[in-house]
Amino acid sequence: MIEEAKQKIASCGIRCTHQRAIVYATLRESRAHPTAEEIYTTIMTRHPDLGVSMATVYNTLEALCDVGLARKHAGSGKTGSARYDAECKCHPHLRDRESGRIVDLPPDLASELFDALPQNMIERIREQTGFDVQRICFELVGSFKNGNADNHPTDI
Ligand SMILES: [Zn+2]
Repeated sequence: MIEEAKQKIASCGIRCTHQRAIVYATLRESRAHPTAEEIYTTIMTRHPDLGVSMATVYNTLEALCDVGLARKHAGSGKTGSARYDAECKCHPHLRDRESGRIVDLPPDLASELFDALPQNMIERIREQTGFDVQRICFELVGSFKNGNADNHPTDI
């Protein structure tokens, strides 16, 4: 996992240190859209001798976003902290209003959602506004029933 992370970082032309590779590998293995603080805590638990700093985690995440290896999602909810995603392909999110937590919409429902868009909608938007739509991203904001999301990954 770490070797793969190193190769990916190096292929993007940014400096690849062991610490950066650990940050990226930690983000990649999480499906929970962690905050920088959560990534830092996970790394400190797993690699207490690594000596990674919060600043290194932040700077690495920003560098990964700059080269397209990660995406940053604006913060909301109680903490207001930004969240990060190693999945850079466009995919719909469910955002919990209260906690700010982000969960991927299951792929079958995501496909159905995109398929449900009227076929000519993009063309009509371009005609009426002059805006060239290059990507469509959905974020559904609400709350999980009973305050939890047992069917969704929370691991990091
Ligand atoms: Zn996601």
